[in-house]
Amino acid sequence: MPEFPSRPTRGHAPLPRRLALTLALSALAPLAAARPGSPEGVADLLGVPTPADLLQAALPSVHLTRVAEPPSVLVVSTQPPASVAARYGVPPAAVAALPRHDGEEARLLRVRLPAPVPDHPPALPASIVTHTVRPGETLASIAADAGLDLVDLLSANLDRTSLDDLEVGEVLYLPTAERGLLVRIKPGQTALTLIAGYGADLARTARANDVLPTALGVGDYLLLPGVRAQGLYAQLARHREAREEAERRAEMQARYDRYLAQQKERERARLQELYVMQAKYEAYLAWRDSPERQRLIEAYEQQAQYEAAQAALREREQAAQPLHVQAAGVNVAAAGHLAWPVQNSRITSRFGEADIDYHKQIFHGGVDLAAPAGTPVYAAADGTVTESGYGAYGMNVYTAQGDSTLVYGHLSRTAVTPGQAVRRGDLLGEVGCTGICTGPHLHFEVRLDGRAVDPLALLP
Ligand SMILES: [Zn+2]
Repeated sequence: MPEFPSRPTRGHAPLPRRLALTLALSALAPLAAARPGSPEGVADLLGVPTPADLLQAALPSVHLTRVAEPPSVLVVSTQPPASVAARYGVPPAAVAALPRHDGEEARLLRVRLPAPVPDHPPALPASIVTHTVRPGETLASIAADAGLDLVDLLSANLDRTSLDDLEVGEVLYLPTAERGLLVRIKPGQTALTLIAGYGADLARTARANDVLPTALGVGDYLLLPGVRAQGLYAQLARHREAREEAERRAEMQARYDRYLAQQKERERARLQELYVMQAKYEAYLAWRDSPERQRLIEAYEQQAQYEAAQAALREREQAAQPLHVQAAGVNVAAAGHLAWPVQNSRITSRFGEADIDYHKQIFHGGVDLAAPAGTPVYAAADGTVTESGYGAYGMNVYTAQGDSTLVYGHLSRTAVTPGQAVRRGDLLGEVGCTGICTGPHLHFEVRLDGRAVDPLALLP
């Protein structure tokens, strides 16, 4: 190593550090002259007086250049040799210091590297730290946690191809001091061409990288302070927008497909309904023209004619022979009026009433007196039992006197036998629901001369 010759600086106040740098760079002059990318060459390129002027600002250590044989770098540093060794990942013994003059803050160090120069690991600026992606993190959350905006984060991670596809365990670079574009020098590029290409400031770049840019080679990282990956961000944002738009379209298409499927299902249901209605209509047509229906209609008509004729006959007889009922009444109620055959009953169907289907088909010739099953049934008038047991009205009792007949129907049991004479008020049986019956009641019928009349007209 050459000695440090004492030379004055030009144009600037003599500061110990700057002096040291100047001296160091001067000392390297023969080496620099041999290399086009040397500090002297850089200073010439930028039109500044000396390489030291590139490095006016204070630097803890400046990586000056590399030497291939033996593999080593030359560093100007104000820091202890042990710190410099740690910076390059070598043992302290690998750092050889040149003698320091009194009052000088910085000194020239040679750092011997363990591997040949071209194979040394890519230099990464000390202010860039790595971050390993954890579950649940996004680029936006990582940026926010690091106090960066998304463009700052992208600028340090130019290999990102998406704003969203982030995998756990991936490693991101985070700037902790200067923010800027972190580029890796490719074959055919140099730090200087990149600095010029991006229009970065040379001195600021040197400070941000803690190294003289000329010392960086292919494969090394170069932080270009103040340069932002706005274009990359815009491109990735467009990708994200395009993908979201595609997702929206897919969702709309899916919704439309669901709508079409629903429409199809509704149409199918509607056709099914039409089909059922058509089938019902055809069944109705078949029924309308069927012989069974014709017979039923005829039967109904006959019944109606019969009932109308009966009604007309009754009216005529009542009008022409008012004394007949009177006479029959005397006959029926030898001791006066008819008596109620059931106490506390409720009239549920009157004479001739067509309240239930059965009464619509079969003329109701009596009165229905509803009462709880087992309620006693008494003779409404004196007479002789002519029938007791199952008959036309379930378990029924008939009594007769003269030309009048009384019928007690739907009994649960009877208390008399045929031929037995009964007096008005005698027990005949109990209310039940035998025969055609919808609930416990007594069917009470009065026939005069074989024809049913309204019992209510004869009851008190
Ligand atoms: Zn009845």
